[in-house]
Order: sequence, then C-alpha cells, then structure tokens
Amino acid sequence: MKIVVLKFGGTSVGSAERIKNVAKIVTSYLKKKFKVIVVSSAMGGETNRLINLSKEISSNFTSSEYDTLVAAGEQISCSLIAGRLNDQGHLSRSWLSWQIPILTTGNYSYSRIESIYKKNIINFLKKGGVPVIAGFQGINSENRVTTLGRGGSDASAIMIAKFFKAEKCVIYTDVDGVYTTDPNVVPKAKKIKKISYEEMLEMASLGAKVMQPNSIQDARLNRIDIEVRSSFKNKAGSLITKRKNISTKNIIRGVSFTKNDAKITLVGVKDRPGVAAKIFEPLFKNSINVDMVVQNISSYKKETDLTFTIKNEDLLKTEKLIKKNKKIIFKKLIIDERVSKVSIVGVGMITTPGVTYRMFNALAKKNINIQVISTSEIKISVLVERKNLKKAVDVLHKEFKLDY
Ligand code: ASP
Ligand code: MG
Repeated sequence: MKIVVLKFGGTSVGSAERIKNVAKIVTSYLKKKFKVIVVSSAMGGETNRLINLSKEISSNFTSSEYDTLVAAGEQISCSLIAGRLNDQGHLSRSWLSWQIPILTTGNYSYSRIESIYKKNIINFLKKGGVPVIAGFQGINSENRVTTLGRGGSDASAIMIAKFFKAEKCVIYTDVDGVYTTDPNVVPKAKKIKKISYEEMLEMASLGAKVMQPNSIQDARLNRIDIEVRSSFKNKAGSLITKRKNISTKNIIRGVSFTKNDAKITLVGVKDRPGVAAKIFEPLFKNSINVDMVVQNISSYKKETDLTFTIKNEDLLKTEKLIKKNKKIIFKKLIIDERVSKVSIVGVGMITTPGVTYRMFNALAKKNINIQVISTSEIKISVLVERKNLKKAVDVLHKEFKLDY
C-alpha cells in the first residue's frame, strides 16, 4: 500500500471554504493512487478559544479536564472534512484518538504518542476509505484524553506516518515552505528546497515558526521525510529529510533570529567552583530556560561577571529568583531587554573552516557589536542590540550567498 499522510493546520481548515479545498487536495492524491490518511488540527483560533474558556472557569483548571476540553476543536474539523469527502462521493470517516486508539505517555498537555492500534484504519484504507484522524490528542493508560502540546497535530502526523509506514508525510500550512530567513525581514529570502532535520530543529527553535520542534525530533528519530507546503497555493514546498539526501554546497542553510530575549548580567560574582551552579539551580527548578551564557575569566580580584540570556516572559520571575537567592553574592544586576539573537545554521560548517570569522567580520563591517556568542556543531549565534537586528540578518544573509 502506497500511503501518504496529509496533515492540515488550523488556517488550512479555518473555514468551510478552506475545508472544501482540503477535500480537493485529498482527491488529487487519490487520483495518483495513494491511500490517504488525513490528520487535522482544529479550525484556526478554536484551541485558543477553548483555552480562554477554561481560564474563565478556573485559574487552576484540572489538567485532565483541560486536555479533554482543548482536544475538542479537532473533532469539529475532522467531521467537517470527512463530511465534505462524503459529499464529493468518497468513502471517509472521522476518527478520534480514543476510537483508534492512539496511546500516549507522559503528563497531560505534554503527552507523547507511544503506540497506535492499526487494524481498523488499515481495513478502512483497504476498502478505499479516507480516515480523517484528529491530531493533537491521544488517550493515556487511564483511558483519559491527553494532548501533545501546542502545535501537537504535527507530532500526530509524524507518528501516524511512522506507524503506518507512510511513503510521505505532507504538512499543509499557511506558509509555502521553509525560508532561508523570515521573508518579512529580508525580502531576498529564498525557499529552501531541502533541509536536514538537524538544521530544521535549529531553525525552528530559533524562531522559524514552521513546525513544532518536538515533532521534527520525532521525524528525525524515525527517518520520516516531511514536505511542508501551503494549502493556499499549488507550489512545491520544502523537504525536511536526512543529511545524506542533501548537498552541502551551501555552507549555511539559513539565518534565524529571535526578538524575545533578555540579557542578565551579574557583576562582581565570586569566582569559585559551584557559583554558576548556585545561580542556575533555582532557574532550572522553576523551568526557566537559560540560553546563552558567558563568563569572563577572573581578574586578580577573584571576581567575575556572568551574563546569560532568557526569554523575555521569564524576566520578572528570574529577577526575583536571583534577588532572593541567599547562596550567591554579587555587586550589581544589569538587565537589558533590547537584545536579539541572530544565528547562522548549516551542516556545511562542520567541514568548512572560517565560517566564524566570516560571520564576525561581516558584522564588524556594519559596525554591529557582538555581545554574547554561543555555538553548536551546526550553528553560530550572536547576541546583538535589537535595533541592529535587521541589519545583522541582512548582512549575514548576503555574506553566505543566500540572497536570490
Ligand atoms: N489545535 C492545536 C493547537 O492549536 C494543535 C495544532 O494546531 O497542531 O495547538
Ligand atoms: Mg495549529
């Protein structure tokens, strides 16, 4: 059986018109003799509406009821899709996760798919049917509804593609692919034809909002090719695949950036073993994610300055935690919210010397000061003043020959 999983995001099922269009897309695959499994998200805005209702009811809504509530949006979109497919003469029906079932582990709101019972879906496919499966949801060992984290219908699609050994998993969304950088910032941004899972993970967690990062990790572990494309335009999208399938002609695949960082500096911290651990322990315990860290080497005074970045939304909490942390001594706390992180990403840098130099030199020529640096095997990030963000992205995009 030649199976394809087609996943539709919120805007792609956002209205009756859009849902009729989904049925057209499904039909085009059926014509090509694919067996189609549809996975859908809730209609755009619906999940947020449900979340807001829960907040009106209680500031401490029971987690199991919360998941039951927010998973409800997918029931609507799936039945509408199946209904339209029926209208167009196709055999189709909706499936909620408990009806399959799709079993998950982990906590409510952040569950992960563990297994999927395949028999009923396979039988339906064999009869020529199109199963329309609710994304984002599962059930746990207590038979309660669970959800997979915001944007989790991507993870549903990937895991369904894995369990049903699909030939392809296509993510239909409102952008027509993954770009070398945000086209709203750099009009010369290009669509990337092929990108590796690793690069996509770096781009996604760095701010290119195309897919849920967890689900890219699932795809990477299970070696599932993902095509990201628009349901609004009939244009080729981007393929997220293994490194092996991609040429490394381009050293850098893309330039990504964030706008919601804050920088914290502790001036005059004692330079002793264990100090950094004491600073970060309460942050970790409060689930605050520390991103970039830089510490100066100690001067003769045996004191040092420690700088790190966090997300803006964690700033107040972090400030409080540091101020009430009795285990650390420092002279001054400096906070700067006018910073942005700019990163270049590409597997090609592993084998190419001089990438760091080229990046820093390009920024220097534009008079952009680098505040903090962090690197991984396939990424170099720098923290710059937010007012320099666009200039920095522009110059790096050009330097690494990504402009079209
Ligand atoms: N409807 C869910 C959400 O809005 C899942 C998804 O969109 O993938 O987060
Ligand atoms: Mg969504």
